[in-house]
Amino acid sequence: MHLSNYKYIIIGSGFFGSVVAERIASQKHEKVLIIEKRNHIGGNSYSEIDKDTGIEVHKYGSHIFHTKSQKVWDYISNFMKLNNYRHKVLTVYKNKIYQMPINLSTINNFYNINLGSYEVSDFIKNEIDKENIKKPGNLEEKAISLIGRPLYEAFIKGYTKKQWETDPKKLPSDTITRLPFRSDYNSDYFDDFIQGIPIEGYTDIFKKILNHKNIELLLNTDYFIVREKIPKNSIVIYTGPIDRFFNYKYGELGWRTLDFESEIIDVDDYQGTAVMNYAEQDMKYTRIHEFKHYHPERDYAKNKTIIFREYSRFAKKEDEPYYPINTKEDKERFEKYKLLKKKNAYFGGRLGEYMYYDMDDSITQALNFYYSFIN
Ligand code: FAD
Ligand code: UDP
Repeated sequence: MHLSNYKYIIIGSGFFGSVVAERIASQKHEKVLIIEKRNHIGGNSYSEIDKDTGIEVHKYGSHIFHTKSQKVWDYISNFMKLNNYRHKVLTVYKNKIYQMPINLSTINNFYNINLGSYEVSDFIKNEIDKENIKKPGNLEEKAISLIGRPLYEAFIKGYTKKQWETDPKKLPSDTITRLPFRSDYNSDYFDDFIQGIPIEGYTDIFKKILNHKNIELLLNTDYFIVREKIPKNSIVIYTGPIDRFFNYKYGELGWRTLDFESEIIDVDDYQGTAVMNYAEQDMKYTRIHEFKHYHPERDYAKNKTIIFREYSRFAKKEDEPYYPINTKEDKERFEKYKLLKKKNAYFGGRLGEYMYYDMDDSITQALNFYYSFIN
């Protein structure tokens, strides 16, 4: 494969890179090369069948497809069908199990009371008023201004400290508003009407998106190893970490990575749900994923299940970055990177734009990018 044969070279085969490649190949009828350093397509959304149990696992942690965007849905449903899974999460605090996100069940069980839905706002307002937060400017203040301090301390503070190892006062408030707060018994994790797990798994979506005669794929290849061989007039669309692209000229952006400890257990069902969070800081993992629950429509064996315990830590240069931390310093640094222009180079996706994107956000950005810059 000769790199000079391609006008468009995309770095990374996650949702951003794959969708842009598909658009260029099918709408512009031009050849595209995707360079991917991993040995598989799909980026962090990749899934595979665990060979010992036959259960589909999400190698980089649970992925639930959810969106409010009709535009995303119209596009992506050409490549996948969803099952009827709706995401529900539980959380363990002081050896008791509560619903998460915080809803009427969480409140009543935590305070050991029996409020009706109509009583919640006065009850929570009373908690919030104890704090005197005028303009919440960070994760901690935002959370307390929504749910009051006792619920924050129980369900958010410890989990957040494990997840980010960063003072919650230094984290952006929109990290916490990812979660709804509910005053009824609705236990859905996401509000989105469209949600579920792809019936054929995630990797099948990428196979279908990339199944075009104009798309070539080079796996196991790090862009930075082959960079010098790419002709100067090729258009490079880079979806890796932006600080790495510029050789950390302004220093490293803050990223979190995850470690997963997997275990096969000889029971049909280990925890009774797909994701169990652990709210307390001294429980080292943040959550346990049990993948069997994502495919109730599949006929999995009854005598085995597979779980992943998830641990979070700061990413070093050699680690896979998963989450942008986005402190004030990170944001300032990112703004400086954004101003660095490189001829014929574009940046996209969660790592390239340093944004806490969900899958549907990456698809939206990829479609917008194609129609704004390439088409
Ligand atoms: P990525 O999927 O990260 O793809 C980037 C690709 O670039 C990777 O394949 C990487 O190997 C490649 N790359 C990087 N550098 C190089 C290089 N130098 N050379 C070659 N290739 C390179 N979203 C949801 O909607 N629902 C969820 O439930 C959900 N759960 C998540 C859980 C976890 C633990 C994580 C980390 C993310 C979750 N997400 C979820 C977010 C989702 O993973 C992202 O939105 C999506 O993967 C972003 O796609 P992307 O293409 O921007 O980036
Ligand atoms: N969070 C929390 N307790 C929980 C779940 C989430 O404190 O039980 C906070 C935490 O700061 C987390 C953020 O809410 O980083 C966003 O949670 P989400 O589930 O969206 O994170 P992701 O699935 O992307 O890891």
